[in-house]
Amino acid sequence: MEAQPGRDRILFTPGPLTTSLTVKQAMLRDLGSRDAEFMAIVAEIRDRLMRLAGARKESGWEAVLMQGSGTFAIESVISSLVPSGGKLLIAINGAYGERAAKIAAKHGIETVPVRSSEREPIDVDAVEAAIEQSSGITHVFAVACETTTGVDNAAQRLSTITNRRGLAYVVDAMSSFGGMPLDIEDAGYDVVISSSNKCLEGVPGFGFVIGRRDMLEAAEGNARTVSLDLAEQWRALEETGQFRFTPPTHAIVAFRQALLELEEEGGIPARWKRYQANHETLVSGMRRMRFREVVAPEHQSPIITTFHYPTGQRFSFEAFYQLLNGRGFVIYPGKLGETECFRIGTIGRIFPADVEALLVTIREALDEMGVSDGA
Ligand SMILES: *Cc1c(COP(=O)(O)O)cnc(C)c1O
Repeated sequence: MEAQPGRDRILFTPGPLTTSLTVKQAMLRDLGSRDAEFMAIVAEIRDRLMRLAGARKESGWEAVLMQGSGTFAIESVISSLVPSGGKLLIAINGAYGERAAKIAAKHGIETVPVRSSEREPIDVDAVEAAIEQSSGITHVFAVACETTTGVDNAAQRLSTITNRRGLAYVVDAMSSFGGMPLDIEDAGYDVVISSSNKCLEGVPGFGFVIGRRDMLEAAEGNARTVSLDLAEQWRALEETGQFRFTPPTHAIVAFRQALLELEEEGGIPARWKRYQANHETLVSGMRRMRFREVVAPEHQSPIITTFHYPTGQRFSFEAFYQLLNGRGFVIYPGKLGETECFRIGTIGRIFPADVEALLVTIREALDEMGVSDGA
């Protein structure tokens, strides 16, 4: 079975992800940045994002869109919110925590990295101890779902510590926002960051930040760059309804369509259910082929799953990847120091039937490689 001509492969990756035909079709427009229809769409999107997060203007929340991939939004937050003389604690248990530390270092922001095992959720006690030992911490950063492994960090566990001490708590919910339920106030987050092309199933092109208005106001003049100045971007969106620089118009109209499709599906609870069904289908099928997961089930999110390579057999990830790719399925390499592993994502416009089809193809690929099973 070859991938059908004219039909793209299905992406079982951490992004970019498979999108619906109707989301792609929504982009067949050329809207100007000052067009009233476009500005209304931007306002609608900001509104809908707030509602998805359980954030209300009356309670002091704001939503800001920022051009670029998700990392640009993260860089915008870190380089705009942490003032000079501020100090950022970063809980790190994977590549995305490391990336946040790299961003902070590039901007000369003093950081306190707190590293813990990549296979386990972030270590809350270690974070608390680091806050006690190191004076002057102003901001705390954590990743909600570490896409490096698929570990669900249960990041809300940190908020009692940050709230009690009056520290600003910034959460990278890139890979889970819209795919796992979140009430920003209950979770005790001050700022949440995600992007158009993860669980919300839009096309790549921008990220978004939902955060407390007082933090945006306090950020004025902090920014270390022009293009990623979050406070200025917010001001422009508020005062003119426009982006400061060329907006990703096509990605924005596609995103509105994606949000309508989320609503049609039954909102975040229904999407979460679908992703859980995708994940359960995947894991039970992989276990039947004797593949082993890297993360324990109690810490595993339904977003992406890491599997060990089969041992002592003629398994080659490159060959495996190419065999699946040729049949229309894209998986992802692993990203864990010494452990040889690969990842399969279960978010985006994919359904349990797609996962079943992937499983059949995995069996065929193993047979072709002469690998008896995943153990
Ligand atoms: C995808 C992702 C990002 C951002 O990645 P981009 O490639 O810049 O869109 C950041 N953090 C996490 C946890 C992610 O999964």
